Amino acid sequence: MPAAVTISQLNKYYGIYHALRDVSLTVQQGEKVVICGPSGSGKSTLIRCINRLEEHHSGTIDVLGHVLDDNMSRIQEVRREVGMVFQNFNLFPHMTILENCVLSPMLVRGTARKEAEEQAMHFLTRVRIPEQANKFPGELSGGQQQRVAIARALCMRPKVMLFDEPTSALDPEMISEVLDVMVSLAQEGMTMICVTHEMGFARQVADKVVFMDQGAIVESGAPTEFFNNP
Ligand code: ADP
Ligand code: ADP
Repeated sequence: MPAAVTISQLNKYYGIYHALRDVSLTVQQGEKVVICGPSGSGKSTLIRCINRLEEHHSGTIDVLGHVLDDNMSRIQEVRREVGMVFQNFNLFPHMTILENCVLSPMLVRGTARKEAEEQAMHFLTRVRIPEQANKFPGELSGGQQQRVAIARALCMRPKVMLFDEPTSALDPEMISEVLDVMVSLAQEGMTMICVTHEMGFARQVADKVVFMDQGAIVESGAPTEFFNNP
């Protein structure tokens, strides 16, 4: 089976700042990769390159057989198959939870409203908040909003899910309700690339932990190699 994501010798600059330095990373289908490292080490930049929210300057990224370049239709194909969950939820505040979830399937996939709504309710049930469907994001807790963001991404039936510090903006008591959803997604076989400081999550689900520093991958291995007790 071909890899889900193959990143090779990636370099990225912000102006003259060298944000990614020869980063290479292969993520197999069904694999769960956790990326950790200090603030400013390039974690967010790296995963944003995978669905072309950031542009790289040299090296290659192959996502599900599509090599990312300036070709916009290829970028759109990749974005249809790669779901992303951000630190700050990024829900549309003026739309209900249900509308947030049906928007992309209807606009991008041309799914009929009734079917999109049924699918949205299915995923909202899976993240255990179906009763919030007609509320607005501002009426929900941070943990609930992030679970909606996960459901919204799943409504596009992605083959790969990217998470950029999904629990960092949450009050401590809400972190586990989001991590629980991520763990169940992992157990169902989703390919996941997660930037997170939650090392318990990494230990529980990661096949591979990647440690970044100053734009480079400085270590990579099974979680047992990182969390070895002395
Ligand atoms: P991390 O996710 O590990 O905290 P980031 O990928 O967000 O790191 O950032 C890596 C470095 O690139 C940081 O020094 C950050 O300030 C810089 N950076 C990130 N985004 C931009 C941007 N849009 N313009 C300029 N510099 C940026
Ligand atoms: P994170 O590290 O969680 O990705 P940041 O707080 O570093 O988020 O960045 C928030 C936003 O600001 C991002 O869109 C990032 O690209 C941008 N950014 C980060 N650092 C810089 C910078 N030095 N100059 C310009 N934009 C930046």
